[in-house]
Amino acid sequence: MSDAFDVVVAGGGHNSLVTAAYLAKAGFRCLVLEGRHVLGGDTSSEERTLPGFVHDSCSTAHNLLQASPMVRRDELGLGAYGLEYIHPDPVVHVPFADGSWITQWRDPRRTAEELARFSKHDASAYLSLLDDYEEIAPLYGQWRYTPVGWGPSLDDLLQDGPGGGKWAKRAAMSAWEVIAARFEEEHVRAFMAWMAFMTLQPVDRAGGGLLAYSLVYGRQRHSWTLPRGGSGALCSALRRLIEDHGGEVRTDHQVVGLLIEAGRCTGVETADGSLWRAGRAVVSSIHVKDLVAMAGPDLWGETFVEAVDTWQPGLSMFVAHYATTEPPRFSVGRDRREAVACGIVPSAESILGLAAQFRQGAVALEDPSLLVLCPTVADPTRAPAGCHTLKVIGFQPYELAGGPERWDAIKEAVAAAHLAQLRRFAPNLTEGVILHQDVVSPLDLERQNPHNWHGSCHGGDMGPAQSGRLRPAPGWAGHRLPIPGLYQTGATTHPGGSVSGAPGRNAAMVILADLGTSLEEVVGRGARGSPGRGGGPPPAHPGTQRPGPEDPTTN
Ligand SMILES: Cc1cc2nc3c(=O)[nH]c(=O)nc-3n(C[C@H](O)[C@H](O)[C@H](O)COP(=O)(O)OP(=O)(O)OC[C@H]3O[C@@H](n4cnc5c(N)ncnc54)[C@H](O)[C@@H]3O)c2cc1C
Repeated sequence: MSDAFDVVVAGGGHNSLVTAAYLAKAGFRCLVLEGRHVLGGDTSSEERTLPGFVHDSCSTAHNLLQASPMVRRDELGLGAYGLEYIHPDPVVHVPFADGSWITQWRDPRRTAEELARFSKHDASAYLSLLDDYEEIAPLYGQWRYTPVGWGPSLDDLLQDGPGGGKWAKRAAMSAWEVIAARFEEEHVRAFMAWMAFMTLQPVDRAGGGLLAYSLVYGRQRHSWTLPRGGSGALCSALRRLIEDHGGEVRTDHQVVGLLIEAGRCTGVETADGSLWRAGRAVVSSIHVKDLVAMAGPDLWGETFVEAVDTWQPGLSMFVAHYATTEPPRFSVGRDRREAVACGIVPSAESILGLAAQFRQGAVALEDPSLLVLCPTVADPTRAPAGCHTLKVIGFQPYELAGGPERWDAIKEAVAAAHLAQLRRFAPNLTEGVILHQDVVSPLDLERQNPHNWHGSCHGGDMGPAQSGRLRPAPGWAGHRLPIPGLYQTGATTHPGGSVSGAPGRNAAMVILADLGTSLEEVVGRGARGSPGRGGGPPPAHPGTQRPGPEDPTTN
């Protein structure tokens, strides 16, 4: 048996590190156990191709995190631990097959001028959409950064919000219905549909209406936000903070079991047979599909087990990393344009068709939609002088007709087809420019990180059946799990995936309350002994209303 810690954290993704950072700052001795040799999960950076080329293994954009109180109020002082953000301009460039293009610039009016080349109506509709969302963004942020059960549901917030419930109606629509009602021109609609799809939720699904607003608004406001040095810089900073506060972070420590004593979770077991005891709490960001296998079904209860049994992974990505000597260069009339982010979107219909393609288990290689990231355009520290890291992301299903194992046989050909599509728009990316590649299929994403269960990029689908008070299971959306002493954070909890830190911070709020303090007290805004707004002792029952954080956040 190892030394006892106050809190043992299973999994070292950014969310569980955020939880551990707040707990460590509160004075609890934390141990983080990460299964891989690299910290950060989907928020990690690695030399995946050649020495000196630091690639973002999964996430690149830290947009949602910019809306977090953790960053906006600098609650953890992560700048002192080396975290710095870059906000590139242009934000994203979208070239079309007919030679036209839309570039999103940091200045919304400049973006609107791009849209006006296609439709003056749509240029003005774009600015109106951004203005409209301003009135609701704080409520959406408040909901995201409040643990479930501590405040109203999103629907209640919107019903009581500005416009007498009109935002509840907009949220209940699909993103595509919002776009089609506001925009008329096909290039603009394609741009808007591609943007609304960036968290991989089907754009024609009812209940996704806010995605038509929030993603484009967030990009317009914060750009395609990059941490200097790589996505993993966030996790490195969190690690330094945890260690600075007496905690430990160990990689290559796969958790294989939960220690249960008298019905309570008191620690975990790692693959090498070591037992790690937690005096106060165990925090998991192990995927719920794996977690339920670590204790008997009777300990979880029927409702929790059924929710996990019926868990849906959602849509998946296919990734190819390249070390290059040039960034992609796109024609804009007689000039060339470079951008950190680029979208390839043949039409709005191509985005609308993705959900059906996934249902069929079909790999679609004809004129595929892509997301292309070249962070070295704005952050040269990630590659040797003059060189670049390039990531080409396609949207392809994990489940293939014939089984996911087929990916090993076809992934190189799929990567070549995606690259050929990109070269139609950036012909400078010749064979001579590409120094090395690393191809990661949806099956590889799961092998790399079991939290990407069945290739899921956001812990699992974020449709109505897996959102809010239903994520990850009815009655257990408030981070406490059916086994006392055990808490869940990460993308399988509210408000889901992306680099937002929201599940991590929300879990910290709940755990700190259970441990007799509050997040407000920890970050220095609450009076000791008198819990601040949004913190304090736990609600007596799941679902008890509690005020949200002050200063509602924006997205
Ligand atoms: C290809 C790709 C691109 C993406 N791009 C973006 C983007 O640009 N912007 C954005 O906001 N989001 C993006 N996302 C989504 C985002 O990266 C994730 O939703 C987010 O990082 C999840 O963070 P997390 O902390 O919840 O979990 P994870 O990052 O998945 O971390 C979970 C950790 O737990 C570890 N673990 C799991 N089981 C065990 C165990 N039994 N024992 C020990 N350790 C264990 C894993 O190894 C992992 O390190 C992308 C995702 C993918 C796959």
